[in-house]
Amino acid sequence: MTPSPQVPAPAPSPDELAALRRRYARERERRVRPDGPRQYVGADADFGFYAADPYAGGPAVREPVRDGVDVAVVGGGFGGVLAGARLRARGVERIRVIDKGGDFGGTWYWNRYPGVHCDIESHVYLPMLDETGYVPEWKYAPGEEIRQHAMRIARRHDLYADALFSTTVTELTWEESSRGWRVETDRGDSFLARYVITATGTMTEPKLPAIPGIEDFEGHTFHTSRWDYSYTGGTPQGGLTGLADKRVGVVGTGATGVQVIPMLAEDAGHLYVFQRTPSTVDVRANRRTTAADVGADREGWARARRDNFLRIVSGEEYEEDLVADGWTSSAGLLEKLLPSFRRPADREAFEAAYEAADAAKMNEVRARVGRTVTDPRTAEMLTPWYRYACKRPTFSDTYYQAFNRTDVTLVDTADTHGIERVTRRGVVVAGTEYALDCLILATGFSVGISGVSSGRLPVHGRDGVPLLHAWARHGVRTLHGFTCNGFPNLIHMGSLQNASSVNFTHVLDEQAVHAAALVAAAEAEGALVEPSREAEDAWLAAIAEGAPDHEWFHAECTPGYYNREGAGRPGGPTAYPHGAVAFHELLRRWREESLHEALSRPAARGTARG
Ligand code: NAP
Repeated sequence: MTPSPQVPAPAPSPDELAALRRRYARERERRVRPDGPRQYVGADADFGFYAADPYAGGPAVREPVRDGVDVAVVGGGFGGVLAGARLRARGVERIRVIDKGGDFGGTWYWNRYPGVHCDIESHVYLPMLDETGYVPEWKYAPGEEIRQHAMRIARRHDLYADALFSTTVTELTWEESSRGWRVETDRGDSFLARYVITATGTMTEPKLPAIPGIEDFEGHTFHTSRWDYSYTGGTPQGGLTGLADKRVGVVGTGATGVQVIPMLAEDAGHLYVFQRTPSTVDVRANRRTTAADVGADREGWARARRDNFLRIVSGEEYEEDLVADGWTSSAGLLEKLLPSFRRPADREAFEAAYEAADAAKMNEVRARVGRTVTDPRTAEMLTPWYRYACKRPTFSDTYYQAFNRTDVTLVDTADTHGIERVTRRGVVVAGTEYALDCLILATGFSVGISGVSSGRLPVHGRDGVPLLHAWARHGVRTLHGFTCNGFPNLIHMGSLQNASSVNFTHVLDEQAVHAAALVAAAEAEGALVEPSREAEDAWLAAIAEGAPDHEWFHAECTPGYYNREGAGRPGGPTAYPHGAVAFHELLRRWREESLHEALSRPAARGTARG
C-alpha cells in the first residue's frame, strides 16, 4: 500500500498555541469586510458574458419539444447522469436529462481550465467503476477524463436519446389532471414529465468580485469556468501560446487558482497573482496507478474503496486506509465540521487535543511554504494563518514553485480587502496600478444559487403553490431532503437536509439509487411520491436532534464561502447530524422497511398517514 505522504509535525507548546490564536484573530480582522457576501455579483445582466458557454457546439435554434416523458432530470452533471443510470436499472423508459451545458458532465463540462484535475482520488471519485469496468490510470484524474466518464455512463444507459442540451428549465408546474409536471424551458420546450428529479448542483454559477471599475477594463477577461482557449491557445494540458507576450492577471487562489496558476506561470509573458487569502496547499503526489495497485481485479473493488474513503472522512471507525492521501490523513481535522455525537464527554480535553493537532498540521503546511519558496517576503505572503478546516484544503506539487519564477509576481491584497479598483488598463492594489492584457477570475461560484432553492427555477406544486412560498411560510420541509408534501413526484438531489461529504459523487450516487427506488415504488403501487406532513415533521426532528454547533468555529475563521464571507452560517438544521455513512445506512434500512412513508395515493391527498 502507498504510504501516507504526510510528514508528522511536533506538537506545539501552550505558548505557541496562544500566539497562534492571536495571529489567527489578527489575520481574520484584516480580511473581514462589512459587505460580506454582498461583495460579489452574479455573472448575469452586464456581466452575462462571463457565463456564456465557450464550448457549446449544438444548433443555435432547434424545434421546441412538446411530448411526454416518464422522468425529467434537471441537470446533466454526475447527479443527473447517475439518476438516469439508476432509473434505467429500474426499467424506466423515457428519461429526459436537461442541461444548460452542451453535453453531460456538469462541473466537468464547465471547468476545463489548464491544469484542471480532481483532487479527490480518481478511484473513489469516478462513480460506477465496478459497473463500467473502467480503471483510471492516475491517482488524481484530469478533468477531461472525468468528463468523458460522465459521458460514458450516459451512453451506456442510453441517456443521449432524449436529452436536451444548451437548455435551461425555466418553470415546473404540477398538473393535477395529468398527474405530472409541465416542464418549460428557455428554448420554448413545454412537455409533461410524470416525475421530475432536480440534480442542479451546489456551485454552478460563476461568482464575480464587484470591484469598482471592473466593467471598464479594456483588456481580455473571463472566468476560469469558461476558459477562452481561442485567446490563450493550448489545452487543459498547457501550451497556452497565445499568452506568451501577454501580461496576465489572475484573481483568486482557492482550489481552482492553485491548479491554474502553475500552468499560467509556465506560459504567460508575465503573471500577476492577486491574492487575498492564501490557501493551505498540501502534498498531492499524483502518480500513475495500475489496476493491481487498487485491486481492480476483485469484484466490487471500487465500491469497497469508495466506502472505505467515506468512512474515514466521516470520522467512522476503519481498519485500513486504502486511499492514504491528504484527505484521509487529515480527516480528524475536517471531522470538526462533522457530528458532535462522537466527541468524548470531556469536551475541554477534546478541544485541546483538536487544537494541538490542527496547529501541528498547519505548521506542517506553513513549513512547506518556507521550504519551497525562495524569497522570504513572498513566502510570508503565501503562508496561511487560520485553522485547517476554515477553508477548503488544496493539494499541489507545483504551486509554491511557480512563485520562484522571475516572471511571476505575487500581489497581496489582504490589507485592501481584495483588489481596490480596476481601470481601463489593469488592476489597482494599494495605489499601484498593474497594467494587464488579460484578467482571469478564479473567484469561485455562488453557493446555493442554482436549482429550486435559489428562486431561479420556479416550482408550482399542488393548487399552484410556489415551493419557495411554502418554505418561506413553514421553513424548509422535506423527508430526507428528497421530497416535500404538496409537491408530488418531485425529487431533489443535493445537499439540503441530508448528509454530504467531500466525495460528492459518492453522495450523489446514493441519492440516485434512492430517487430511483422512490420512482419504482410509486410505479409499482400506482401511488405518488409524496411524504405526509407527519413524515416531514419526524425528519425535521431527526435532523435537529444532535445538530452540531459549529458556529463558534466558523466565527473565528478567515472569511470565505464556508462561513458566508465571515457573516456566519444561516441558522437552523440543514443536514443529518450523524454523517454520510449513517445517513446512507438509514436510507437503506428505510427503503426496506418504510418506503410507503414517501408515497401518497391520490384519494388520500392531504391526509395524515402512518
Ligand atoms: P473559491 O474557493 O471560492 O476561491 C475564490 C478565490 O477568489 C479566493 O481565493 C478568494 O479570496 C478570491 N477572491 C474573491 N474576491 C476577491 C477579490 N475581490 N480580490 C482578490 N481575491 C478575491 O473558488 P474556487 O477556487 O473556484 O473553488 C470553488 C470550489 O470548487 C472549491 O472549494 C471546491 O469545492 C471546488 N473545486 C474542486 C476542485 C477539485 O480538485 N476537486 C478543484 C477546483 C475547485 P478569499 O479566500 O480571500 O475570499
